[in-house]
Amino acid sequence: MRTESHERSLILLKPDSVQRGLVGEILSRFERKGLKIIGMKMVWPSKELAAKHYDQPESAMITLGERTIAAYKEKGIEDKRKPIEIAKDIQKKLVTYLATGPVIALVIEGAHAIAHVRKIRGATNPLAADVGTITADYTIDSYFISDADERAIRNLVHASGTVEEAEAEIKLWFSSNELFDYDLAIEKILYDKAWEATRDELVKGK
Ligand code: GDP
Ligand code: MG
Repeated sequence: MRTESHERSLILLKPDSVQRGLVGEILSRFERKGLKIIGMKMVWPSKELAAKHYDQPESAMITLGERTIAAYKEKGIEDKRKPIEIAKDIQKKLVTYLATGPVIALVIEGAHAIAHVRKIRGATNPLAADVGTITADYTIDSYFISDADERAIRNLVHASGTVEEAEAEIKLWFSSNELFDYDLAIEKILYDKAWEATRDELVKGK
């Protein structure tokens, strides 16, 4: 199998997924795509773990703050705080949200796993998400409401954004003995060139 077929992504079904009984529905979307679950557990994250999960370099924090200021400006709201202060405030809300109840943590593996998982999850803001994605189909939140209520946006699922992010997040949530190296029967059909045979070869084999 090609090395690209082994890309890994960390997924968290956040506390609202568990509380709303959506774990099975959401998991089935990743399974039916052909992605392989190589690790899975329930964790009630401490604030420390949640804070580590959302820890970002200062440059990324500033970008998040600037993006938020720009979005506010479009809505005609002026936020006079520094970008870093805004980002720290968002991070605090994210930590509260993630630590509010048990989550399902899983590591998924497959070809282009990070990109496919992000597509299946949909846009961060459910109001902007395409129909057919998790954030569009199962929830109704928006930055309009969450910002006004001073809480994190409730978007059900976290999914790694890049290979580097996935590596760091997988290390944070799983130890190596919690991840399993095994073959799925469907991988032969998804990835194996040798699966295809001509009709003649198949008939001869009878
Ligand atoms: P994700 O990877 O798509 O979930 O999003 P990011 O990694 O960019 O951000 C992590 C979380 O920060 C998101 O799930 C949001 O809850 C929050 N967030 C990101 N951008 C904004 C923003 O512009 N405004 C607010 N209020 N929250 C944001
Ligand atoms: Mg992210």
